[in-house]
Amino acid sequence: MNIKKSGENYEVESSSKNGKFYTVDPSKPWCDCADFRFREMGKKGVCKHIKAVRELIESKKQKTLKKEGKTAETILEFIEKKGEVDSIELINKFGDEEIDRLIKGGELMEERGKIKLLK
Ligand SMILES: [Zn+2]
Repeated sequence: MNIKKSGENYEVESSSKNGKFYTVDPSKPWCDCADFRFREMGKKGVCKHIKAVRELIESKKQKTLKKEGKTAETILEFIEKKGEVDSIELINKFGDEEIDRLIKGGELMEERGKIKLLK
C-alpha cells in the first residue's frame, strides 16, 4: 500500500482507485474513506488504511529499537546475564516502553525495584 507522510497525517492510496489518496490520522483515529466514515467509525473500528498506517509506524519503531539495541531480545539477554537488574538502571538503559510491554506480556517481573525474568 502506498503511504505518504503529510504533516501530522498520512496519505494512503486507495487499492481500487489508483492515484486516489485518503487522509489518515492514526491517533484519533480518522480516515476520510467511505468505509471508515459510514461503517467503522460508528462501531469504533478502523478501516484498512488506518490499519496500514499503524503497521507502518509500528515497524518503523521496531527498526529504530533494533538499531539502538533496545529490542525485547537484547533486554531479556541483558537481564539473563545479570540475574536481576535494578529497574531504574534498566529503564535508563533501554527505555520504559519495551520493558513495560515485557512485564505486561509476562516475560519479566518487577519486585521491590528489581526486574528479573519470569520463567
Ligand atoms: Zn480508510
